[in-house]
Amino acid sequence: MSDITLYLFRNDLRLHDNPAWAAAAKGQSVLPLYILDDETDWTPGSATRWWLHHSLAALAADIKAAGGKLYLRRGNSEKILASVLEKTKISRIIFSRGYEPRQRQVEQTIYDRWHDHYDIKRYGSYLMYEPEQVLNGQGLPYKVFTPFWKACLSRPEPTLPKSATAANAGFYKPRIESDNLEDWHLLPQRPDWAGGLRDNWQPGESGARQQLKTFLKTALDNYESGRDRPDYEGTSRLSPHLHFGEISPARVWHEVKKSADGDKQLYKQGMSYLRELGWREFSNHLLYNWPELPRQPFRPEFANFPWQADNKALRAWQRGQTGYPIVDAGMRQLWHSGWMHNRVRMIVGSLLVKHLLIHWHHGEDWFWDTLVDADLANNSASWQWVAGSGADAAPYFRVFNPILQGKKFDPDGDYVKRWVPELKQLDKKHIHTPWETDAETLAAAGIQLDKDYPRPIIDHAEGRKRALQAFESFNNSRKTGGTG
Ligand code: FAD
Repeated sequence: MSDITLYLFRNDLRLHDNPAWAAAAKGQSVLPLYILDDETDWTPGSATRWWLHHSLAALAADIKAAGGKLYLRRGNSEKILASVLEKTKISRIIFSRGYEPRQRQVEQTIYDRWHDHYDIKRYGSYLMYEPEQVLNGQGLPYKVFTPFWKACLSRPEPTLPKSATAANAGFYKPRIESDNLEDWHLLPQRPDWAGGLRDNWQPGESGARQQLKTFLKTALDNYESGRDRPDYEGTSRLSPHLHFGEISPARVWHEVKKSADGDKQLYKQGMSYLRELGWREFSNHLLYNWPELPRQPFRPEFANFPWQADNKALRAWQRGQTGYPIVDAGMRQLWHSGWMHNRVRMIVGSLLVKHLLIHWHHGEDWFWDTLVDADLANNSASWQWVAGSGADAAPYFRVFNPILQGKKFDPDGDYVKRWVPELKQLDKKHIHTPWETDAETLAAAGIQLDKDYPRPIIDHAEGRKRALQAFESFNNSRKTGGTG
């Protein structure tokens, strides 16, 4: 029997801290393969395609530096695997575990079709806790975050991933087909809209490590309050790196703990940060246990909610032209940089599904296409949270007030000024409410309402009332057995 391992890269685009790679690298001959699988409804959106290109380029360069080659193929995973196995003398298949429906389907096929002939090994490192490990007293998955996280914390700490680099591996380089990354056309051509992404991000393993280092040095000590402030860098911005597996959550966990060691105050901040990683675990466990989460409301009764079709309003929302400065700042930050602050994601989401009564699918789809961290579990669970239809969701009647949220979390208006430059001459008293600002102040700031900046797409009080009425009548019709 040969000693050749097929290593299937998935959302684990790194060589360090990767237990699956460490196992593969022990062998004498490794064939690293990445398949861009098109057989799913959730192929990467525009921003994640950009990220994927650069992340694969970085990985390929690391593997090349160690004397190997990253093979690239695009299409149906099962067919490609079958053809690679047929043309090579592979004896072992190793990969990291995935939790998305399509990833699970591929894993199942690998086991079903090839377990008789190959030594198959799967390792978990995308999450800190496997879905089978965190169950309630009845052996069922949790639907509420707090007891879920308590149960996680009562388990042994996540294991620090084993370190092995490409240098440890011997490589197998058969003469089989491999695509050219450039030929996948993952990068935008004309127009090249990725300037903002290039300015803001460094995809790849070394970018991820650098990002973590910067966060620990500059923002961990104030994370609890800083995490809610979009006007400065108070969060880690690790989400795209975590999504692509350029860094493992267990590594992040241990580095945070190490930084906070012996410092009570820092430890508190660290635990509050790790709790956010807990939400990532929760979303993934939800998706694993309810694979229809990206399209079906977790609370089935919401299938009959009277969402409204309003393309004009949807377009205004997507383009950051709603007339609510904090919302428009968020939507423009997203368009420009491929990322939006979490607090602002909640505010823009609430405006879409509550004030405008537009189906959360539209928000989910837009985020899917524009976020560099677009992630099936986090995106669908979070949109359902915002819409009120999710597990442990914000209750439907919780309608964010975009004016108060702006004033509270962007008190000087710095975030708005950065992303909505037409308002930058307004002082902090007026910046979140240009439509309520007197004509003289507006003129001095060079703003003509409707021409330079729109009035609110819907009055807050009116929108809130309409949302609550829609919810109430939907609720009543459920009770009386109607369809809403
Ligand atoms: P930090 O505050 O530094 O948090 C650290 C890590 O914890 C994040 O990188 C992320 O992996 C995880 N995390 C933080 N908050 C959450 C959360 N609420 N739910 C799940 N995981 C969390 N996150 C994504 O990674 N991909 C998405 O597609 C996505 N879509 C979202 C859609 C909506 C409507 C909302 C409200 C939130 C969404 N989030 C998503 C969650 C959250 O906004 C981002 O994870 C966070 O803003 C990323 O920035 P950060 O890395 O600086 O976060």
